Amino acid sequence: MNHDRSRDLYDRALSVMPGGVNSSVRAAIEPYPFFVERGDGGHVIDADGNRYIDWVMGLGPLLYGHDLPQPVESAIQSRVSEGPMFGAPTEIEVEHAEFVTRHVPSVESIRFVNSGTEATVSACRLARAATGRDKIVVMQGGYHGAQETTLVEGEYDDVEPSSPGIPESFAEHTLAVPFNDEEAAHRVFEDHGEDIAAVMVEPILANMGIVTPVDGYHETLRDLTEDSGALLIFDEVITGFRIGGLQCAQGKFGIDPDITTFGKLIGGGFPVGAIGGRSELIEQFTPSGEVFQAGTFSGHPVTMAAGLESLRYAAEHDVHDHINDLGERLRTGLQEIVADQAPEYTVAGTEGIFKVLFTRDAPETFEGHCEGGCSQRPDCPRFEHCPKNAADVAAGQTDRWRRVFWEEMSEQGVFLAQNQYESQFVTHAHTDDDVEETLEAYKQAL
Ligand code: PMP
Repeated sequence: MNHDRSRDLYDRALSVMPGGVNSSVRAAIEPYPFFVERGDGGHVIDADGNRYIDWVMGLGPLLYGHDLPQPVESAIQSRVSEGPMFGAPTEIEVEHAEFVTRHVPSVESIRFVNSGTEATVSACRLARAATGRDKIVVMQGGYHGAQETTLVEGEYDDVEPSSPGIPESFAEHTLAVPFNDEEAAHRVFEDHGEDIAAVMVEPILANMGIVTPVDGYHETLRDLTEDSGALLIFDEVITGFRIGGLQCAQGKFGIDPDITTFGKLIGGGFPVGAIGGRSELIEQFTPSGEVFQAGTFSGHPVTMAAGLESLRYAAEHDVHDHINDLGERLRTGLQEIVADQAPEYTVAGTEGIFKVLFTRDAPETFEGHCEGGCSQRPDCPRFEHCPKNAADVAAGQTDRWRRVFWEEMSEQGVFLAQNQYESQFVTHAHTDDDVEETLEAYKQAL
């Protein structure tokens, strides 16, 4: 494949943008990323005219790939033609809030913001204000955006900021436990229960190779938070309206969190975030309450139209069925390939998300090498061997994945997430042919 134009663009970008990109992961591809010219259904075409089957899909905000259903596109265009935004409320914000509260039982009230990061920042502030406590428990390897409270490394109460520029004292208020470890969850509440404002958790770790919860884990978090007067925050920025259909992952797992953070899909491909929950909590935000929260672009009418119409369309058509069906076929096909050619690797994911994890350097929790073919379903005979937390995933051959695998797949015209950790997304625009071609490429690459 010829990448001359992408290389030239990257050269120019490096002179005027840090690392040549506006979000770090985009530069993970060496020696330079390809620049996208345009999308076409389930595909993207780069600046040199090369076509790829796209499983990155904007890293999560696109339910329909790159071709919007006609009613969605019309709604967006008509909002744009009415003037982009006003600094005054609009009806479309109310309609979107009504849609979300109607479909997600734990959400009675919602504040729209402009990114997942903004949502998790405000959720932490709200939880601290509502409980009068400072500590937030997060999962090791969980990702909640580029924000001070959750950018930590280390474990338990021995954590440090994971980025320069964050005061050490901030990390004193963050506790990090391994996902799926009930004992650690009990311990952290025994030791710090009175100071814990909230547990913030992705219902499925979707930024760490995809790790699904073991049976009972979220119930344990729910019980522990409830018993100690802390809040449970589900960060559904990735899972919201993708996993568990319109009821989100919390519907799938049967858990009512106190606060939910949303992003990605609720904006239909435009910048968005949201914090939802019981009215008595969410109404503690200004102006009904005292927890300061504001944003020039919040509830942006174009974003609201894109998000609402995308979700409405999904409510009225078999969008999730199509996505989950293709996802299942993709994972089943991958499991067969992996079992045959690379049994030490693991196929992870559920519904419309998937990932092949290079679990060759198996951590102790594997009790030997994974035999492959496990999709982290409890009914899978190899479930025991699947990665259960971030450390299991990180112990895999992440560097090999990046150097060998991404490059091989991309050469064959398949665009995968730029590192071993980010989820890959099936959309309504993907087809049987995309799945078949992708499986064939995996076969070659492996
Ligand atoms: N939470 C989760 C679970 C995420 O996956 C992300 C982004 N991938 C964020 C928060 C941050 O969202 P944003 O990038 O829109 O700020």
